Amino acid sequence: MNCTEFLANLTDYFDAQTATALRSELEQHMAGCEHCTVTLNTTRQTIEIYRNKELFELPESIHERLRQAVLSKCAAKMKRQKLKQS
Ligand SMILES: [Zn+2]
Repeated sequence: MNCTEFLANLTDYFDAQTATALRSELEQHMAGCEHCTVTLNTTRQTIEIYRNKELFELPESIHERLRQAVLSKCAAKMKRQKLKQS
């Protein structure tokens, strides 16, 4: 699983109906990716805030902002790793 796939399945992580296999794939990715771990924690907090307000749906703008932030951080990280290798 890469960061894009992780983000695509991120909200499923909080769904009790999500299959254990997918959940463990997400956890495996998080173990090796700090940015996705941060994103998951942020998303969890956001979901909790909305649950408290009895609004479950994540607003599209927040979701998109999180996605963009992680993708740019992951891209920067990959660039750094490439530079190190060469
Ligand atoms: Zn990631």
